[in-house]
Amino acid sequence: MRKLGLVRDIDLALHLPLRYEDETRISRLVDARDSDVVQFEAVVTSCEITYRPRRQLLVTVDDGSDTCVLRFFSFYPSMQKALAVGTRIRGRGEIKGGFLGRTMMHPTFKPAGGELASALTPVYSTVAALPQAYLRRAVLSGLGRADLADTLPPGAANTRMTRAMWDLRRALDFLHHPTPDVALATLEDRSHPAWQRLKAEELLAQQLSQQQARRERDHLRAPVLQAQPGGLHDKLLAGLPFALTGAQQRVGDEIAADLLRQIPMHRLLQGDVGSGKTVVAALAATICIDAGWQCALMAPTEILAEQHFRKLISWLEPLGVRVAWLTGSQKKKERTAMLALVQSGEAGLVVGTHAVIQDLVQFKNLGLAIIDEQHRFGVAQRLALRGKMTEAGQEPHLLMMTATPIPRTLAMSYYADLEVSTIDELPPGRTAIVTKVVADTRRDEVVGRISAQLAQGRQVYWVCPLIEESEAVDLTNATQTHEALSEALPGTMVGLLHSRMPLAEKKAVMTLFTSGAMGVLVSTTVIEVGVDVPNASLMVIEHAERFGLSQLHQLRGRVGRGAAASACVLLYAAGENGRLGETARARLKAMVETGDGFEIARRDLEIRGPGEFLGARQSGAPLLRFADLATDTELLEWARELAPDMLDRNPGLAARHVSRWLGTRAEFLKA
Ligand code: ADP
Ligand code: MG
Repeated sequence: MRKLGLVRDIDLALHLPLRYEDETRISRLVDARDSDVVQFEAVVTSCEITYRPRRQLLVTVDDGSDTCVLRFFSFYPSMQKALAVGTRIRGRGEIKGGFLGRTMMHPTFKPAGGELASALTPVYSTVAALPQAYLRRAVLSGLGRADLADTLPPGAANTRMTRAMWDLRRALDFLHHPTPDVALATLEDRSHPAWQRLKAEELLAQQLSQQQARRERDHLRAPVLQAQPGGLHDKLLAGLPFALTGAQQRVGDEIAADLLRQIPMHRLLQGDVGSGKTVVAALAATICIDAGWQCALMAPTEILAEQHFRKLISWLEPLGVRVAWLTGSQKKKERTAMLALVQSGEAGLVVGTHAVIQDLVQFKNLGLAIIDEQHRFGVAQRLALRGKMTEAGQEPHLLMMTATPIPRTLAMSYYADLEVSTIDELPPGRTAIVTKVVADTRRDEVVGRISAQLAQGRQVYWVCPLIEESEAVDLTNATQTHEALSEALPGTMVGLLHSRMPLAEKKAVMTLFTSGAMGVLVSTTVIEVGVDVPNASLMVIEHAERFGLSQLHQLRGRVGRGAAASACVLLYAAGENGRLGETARARLKAMVETGDGFEIARRDLEIRGPGEFLGARQSGAPLLRFADLATDTELLEWARELAPDMLDRNPGLAARHVSRWLGTRAEFLKA
């Protein structure tokens, strides 16, 4: 129960069924259609063990309307007795038409007769050792004991939104044990007034906790970081080989304004792949360093972190800034030296992986923390960062960066405790990337395209998917692709990068590719999403149907970073039936139709739901259980408007509401 998060009575009451079983009636077998789950009463007419194709118990039953074969692959001798010929049983299972006639695999059964249920029977999500029957009883008694007194403020009960909702007690009683006459569709799509109530309450709890966190943050103190006229910031800007885009300038100003306030910044910088977030981060860092404080920059992978490190060193060390480097794979001696630089304050900027937030790392005075690809960090890591970095009563400013843009509606309403800056413009001179979807059977043509790019001095990525369960298989795939391409492209250096390689080898391969010596890079590693090689102009993604939409977009963003016309080829392998699944098709279609990260994010939200944007996957704690941000926009709007008023006028109710809904998860939601 603890594993399921079922600790308090209210947790039990809010543990809603996954689905229901209808044990309120007996169906006639003849009326059941294929795949129906039915309860029947019938007489056993035969019961025997057969051995083909494997050992199984086959039982035929007849209810007067039709017959059905019950099949059990695992069974006890006692079951044969209970299913002896002539016995009348009540059984329940899924009807399938099959070779043997209509069958049911492993139905449940008991002697016929006995009362029928008066409500639908709930089926709860559970863990291995916890039987449904036990969980049902626990939920029922938890539901009885839980305090479900209304926590909506007095005025809220009579808005257009709330009038149609049921009160909480009634809604929960109903959802756990709905009457058989309910239209199941309204439970499945959660449009039923009982569901409306739950979703509204959940969204309100989320809004309250976020808005509360924001108010608390207003009482925290952070260092005031001001750029010096003619200082590092201006020098870096003057030394850049390009001018900032209007969008980069604007978000730079937004960040600079935040850093001037004595309240810790909590800002998300979102910009499509290739929009130039790194330089914006570097400029923010210079303001911080100029003001005499340290800045930390974290990236999710070592290769990405190292790439930032190299770039930042080349920008900042000429200006006299010491840049330190921290990573998990570092030699002890080097690490100790780096830690000393950080602790003494000699290092103005610290770049690294999550090694930057480990316990051993002590900053002299951290003023600004920057997290790149923030959605790839878990919530727990973000919390560790915030906890760690409190300095003498002052918190550092926090800048998070992401190339997976949060759809605007989501950003505005869900992240109440986050300011969002958006780079909505690519640097000039970029040409649109042409995207083609090509069946795997036409690989040869793709090799032709590769040769054409190589002939123009361009470089090519070829990405193979990595699926954890079948890492070995995928590795073979990548190795074979690597061999085939090496053979097909004589005279071209074709490299291979995969996740099992030692880091030093990975780095050597990356260096060859970055320097331009290597023409084609075959990679299973989709983690290195931030790499920046402007000369690469063709991206081939094998088994594109296995990737998520935002992943595909990220990968595609590795090309089109220079002025050369670039292309992305999505190779797909059709399924057994010769076709692509529906969502895979929707994803590939979206990729062809748009190159705009925001549009991609919107479609992704549509296809898959919002979990990914919010980092829920990594946290292991789904942030919203009941409401759906893509569709429940009206409820969200209602909650967003109600929350500040409630915090002002009914703080006690607000606290009770949040604790009822979030319990110990409240902290997580603030991260
Ligand atoms: P991302 O936002 O994906 O992290 P990067 O910061 O890696 O993008 O920038 C992508 C490329 O564009 C880099 O090579 C960078 O130097 C270049 N770049 C950034 N800003 C500009 C600009 N204003 N004009 C021209 N090139 C730019
Ligand atoms: Mg980047």
